[in-house]
Amino acid sequence: MKTEILCVGTELLLGDIVNTNAAYLSRELALLGVEVYHHTVVGDNPQRLAQALNIAFSRSDTVVMTGGLGPTYDDLTKETVADYFHCPLKLHQPSLNAIEDYFARTGRELTENNKKQAMLPEGCTVFPNSCGTAPGFALTVESKTAILLPGPPSEMTAMFELSVRPYLEKRSQKILVSHNVHIFGLGESHVESLLKPMMTSYCNPTIAPYAKQGEVRIRVTASAGSPEEGDRLIAPVLGQIQAALPDVVYGIDVDSLQGAVVQTLMQRGLKLATAESCTGGLISKRITEIPGSSQVFDCGICSYANSIKETVLGVSRQTLCRYGAVSPQTAQEMARGVRKLAEADIAVSTTGIAGPDGGTPEKPVGLVYIAVDSPWYSQVMELHLSRGRKKEREDIRYLASSHALNLVLQALRKAPQPDESDCAELK
Ligand code: ATP
Repeated sequence: MKTEILCVGTELLLGDIVNTNAAYLSRELALLGVEVYHHTVVGDNPQRLAQALNIAFSRSDTVVMTGGLGPTYDDLTKETVADYFHCPLKLHQPSLNAIEDYFARTGRELTENNKKQAMLPEGCTVFPNSCGTAPGFALTVESKTAILLPGPPSEMTAMFELSVRPYLEKRSQKILVSHNVHIFGLGESHVESLLKPMMTSYCNPTIAPYAKQGEVRIRVTASAGSPEEGDRLIAPVLGQIQAALPDVVYGIDVDSLQGAVVQTLMQRGLKLATAESCTGGLISKRITEIPGSSQVFDCGICSYANSIKETVLGVSRQTLCRYGAVSPQTAQEMARGVRKLAEADIAVSTTGIAGPDGGTPEKPVGLVYIAVDSPWYSQVMELHLSRGRKKEREDIRYLASSHALNLVLQALRKAPQPDESDCAELK
């Protein structure tokens, strides 16, 4: 199925808004195995829209469109598509009812031109709008399909999830099954070079890397007749990826680094504590984003000032004077101190210079120490997180929190397994 995306809106052409709809649709269609060959943007002008439609259908079977479904005179996408297919518009009563309900619910008055949104081409498949008024639809005439979706991204994405994805899945005999391998500690280009032989030689499943905020996600997607068949095709490839990238895979199909940390702590029945300086509570925030984290996390100290490092965490004055607050020694004592204070099994600490000020030649912006402390494993890491960019304070803090979470995961992997014979005796 050759597909393309056609977005309608003069604001897009003027650069007033970014075409996030096209990016979203491309991503989602790729996940469904639909090949997208072109993106086009056209203003709210019926002649140029008709021209764009002609070009699109001269080379593609399906055109997914967004925008111009509104109630005003310049919203002409639907009318132009109906003309193109020589398909008259008719009142679709369920859509009119839904629009009336929407206005009653939101306490607004329905105007005559809102009713225009319930006029749809005969024979189309209607996609209800769960967050707004304009319904979307798919219309197929002589093996050419136009899919029309509203412009506002919240309405468009909700409609895609609820109606368009199931519609497209039904049209295809195959389903797509995906699993994601999550990587921390290796850049995208490095990951890609290690996986290149697999990426170029495998066609089902396919392997695609995505980089985001210091992490890499590798999506492995199989086209199959059933979820079970998809899983069977993917399983050996997941094993091969893990073997090719030892030590950097932190999870498969996990939500996030913090999700993996909380899950592992729960599995092991262990508790974590944090002492944060340069990350200012970001690790605590990320941990407590995970539902159920209260089972494994009692205490996070944001010890920004030296006096708090000393009085609350028990970092010695001598350490602070001799090595400074940003030092491996301070990081180590912070982790040890908070573990004791919280009576936790494992603790992690951060201290560093997030910038833009405060750096020196010996201790530049981006220098961060992270320590993990537990009865079975203690470690301090020195990181240099500056990339020389102007506004990188937030990047440094976020990356430092990710490294800290990853260090906790590494320590948890080394935790002794609960002795099964002990458990048997306890029973
Ligand atoms: P409405 O009923 O709100 O008029 P519509 O379907 O007619 O919806 P447009 O009028 O084209 O859609 O766009 C409404 C708003 O949606 C725009 O002002 C813009 O903020 C957003 N929007 C439209 N198209 C896109 C796009 N391709 N990417 C991102 N945002 C978009």
